[in-house]
Amino acid sequence: MIDSARLGLPEFAPGSVWLVGAGPGDPGLLSALALHALGRADSVVFDALVDPRTLALARPGAALDYAGKRGGRPSPSQPDISARLIRLAKEGRRVLRLKGGDPCVFGRGGEEALALAAAGVPFRIVPGITAGIGGLAYAGIPLTHRDTNSAVTFLTGCHSGGSLPEGLDWPAIARGAPVLVLYMALKQLPNIVAHLIAGGRSAEEPVAVISKATSPQQRVLISTLGALAQDAALVEPPAVTVIGEVVRFREALDWVGALDETLAP
Ligand code: SAH
Repeated sequence: MIDSARLGLPEFAPGSVWLVGAGPGDPGLLSALALHALGRADSVVFDALVDPRTLALARPGAALDYAGKRGGRPSPSQPDISARLIRLAKEGRRVLRLKGGDPCVFGRGGEEALALAAAGVPFRIVPGITAGIGGLAYAGIPLTHRDTNSAVTFLTGCHSGGSLPEGLDWPAIARGAPVLVLYMALKQLPNIVAHLIAGGRSAEEPVAVISKATSPQQRVLISTLGALAQDAALVEPPAVTVIGEVVRFREALDWVGALDETLAP
């Protein structure tokens, strides 16, 4: 239990909703505010990407409410989830809306916050470590390095329905930043690679695909832009894809792999 008073953490008021990022998986990456909320929530409405070890930290007696896909049934629609949050809050509960990574990075946290604001429900947004930052750290890949890049582009490879987001200016994306971090991109990798190479990126550029980042099942595939579509065909989701020269630093900085070797019998 964290000492919330000593840290000066705010009260989790009944009738309010906290939109909280749970980070990419490792419960050690939860913020003090996220832990505080887990210890006090009456209802926890969580997504598929929230690690079971994190959910296990919820207050005994808290109602755990799954808002992801279940057994092939379609996932609840976004308006349904927002309506559920509003209803639970209006019943006087402390509602913890727990999302993987950061709630507002490709996580629809903004949409839910807008619905809460429109319904007059008090809410707080607690940022989390997004997979495109935490996952890179656990793969030994610095997101920026002065020798390689002064800019980064975060991009989703998937719009609702699974297709590439419309309206992306691919030539501009290809030129824009030396490092690209792709979320939800596995299915669309062949298309994305084709757009980037057509936009001038080199087929030789190094790429890492980090699957199940920060969990004990983390796997990192190293490839090149040209070989990526083939190499990544069997990677298991969730995965983030990093394109750019920063990937080369992993050779020296793979601290997770180094720890595993130290621990191996
Ligand atoms: N809000 C989340 C992103 C949700 S979109 C965040 O900030 O991280 C879902 C995508 O996030 C996945 O398709 C994958 O690209 C990425 N992702 C989330 N958790 C991940 C993990 N543990 N390892 C690798 N990728 C992850």
